[in-house]
Amino acid sequence: MNYRQLTSALVPLYGRGEAQAIARIVYEEVFGLSLADVLLGRDEQLTLDERSKLENIASQLLKGTPVQHVLGYADFCGHRFCVGPDVLIPRPETERLVELCVDFCRRRMSCRVLDLGTGSGCIAVALALALPAAHVVGVDVSAAALRVARDNASRLCGGGVAFLHHDMLRVAALVAALRGVSAAAGSPCGGVAPAFDVIVSNPPYIRRSEAASMHANVVDHEPHIALFVPDDDALLFYRAIAATAAACLAPGGIVAVEVNASLAGATAALFSDMGFPARVVKDVFGRERFVVASQGHDDAHEAAHAAQDGAAAHLPQGVLAQQHAACGHEAREQYAQAQPPDGVE
Ligand code: GLN
Repeated sequence: MNYRQLTSALVPLYGRGEAQAIARIVYEEVFGLSLADVLLGRDEQLTLDERSKLENIASQLLKGTPVQHVLGYADFCGHRFCVGPDVLIPRPETERLVELCVDFCRRRMSCRVLDLGTGSGCIAVALALALPAAHVVGVDVSAAALRVARDNASRLCGGGVAFLHHDMLRVAALVAALRGVSAAAGSPCGGVAPAFDVIVSNPPYIRRSEAASMHANVVDHEPHIALFVPDDDALLFYRAIAATAAACLAPGGIVAVEVNASLAGATAALFSDMGFPARVVKDVFGRERFVVASQGHDDAHEAAHAAQDGAAAHLPQGVLAQQHAACGHEAREQYAQAQPPDGVE
């Protein structure tokens, strides 16, 4: 099997643009062969061992296993995160959420950050790495996800993130538990009332009914607990986040969340109604993907504007395509639309 054959085999499952991106990732990451190498025919010169490895990878990909699960990692904000079936694969559009928090925190001496539903820990760890003076706490209901998050944190930032095993929907108990974390860690909540300058979250937000339009490699391989919400209560996690903010957000702090693009206005309204004036921020693909809320302060607006000004600054579409193929039904759709024509199949 060569590059062209791998791509063609993947086309029925993924479409041409994404099949090419996946094949490129495999050749680049597993065999160290760039597209230029492929054009020079080096994909035809694999050893026997390499060939059997490729057959094995191809058979996993053809069963719909995401390329990130085959490799065991995904890149996010310039860092390599271990991923597996217990965590959501980091999505390219979520990098903007991190940028938004970083822009906000950079203007402060120190920053206490709470990441609700941390999953692989990608947001928490990326923030800890970008903001060395920050105190970051990641919370997740899944013990298996927290194992992945802890592993990523210890590998990438020397364990510089505190993790808490808790259900973010049980707000009163969570707030009480956060006091414990602060007391134990000597920060970020001061031991009396937890106080965070930033509460960030990429909670589950896809309505169950939307699953029908999603790609099998998301629905069959990623944790439903991280993806889906009931149709009749699609904003339940945001209600819990706003209630947590009511108890834990420091004066002048912000809440920054990723949202379902078709519910962005409703999510912003929920925060505004709960006393946190909010605005919607678009993602790198121009979709209404984030909501930034504050305590009636200009910071949310500043942060939202800063994020909007930075749109597309960091992520050329080609890089998105190469590094983030096959992750997320919306990213996939958007990637397919953004993909420039490519001479190599
Ligand atoms: N955006 C992700 C997807 O496209 C879903 C992330 C989430 O539910 N928080 O699959």
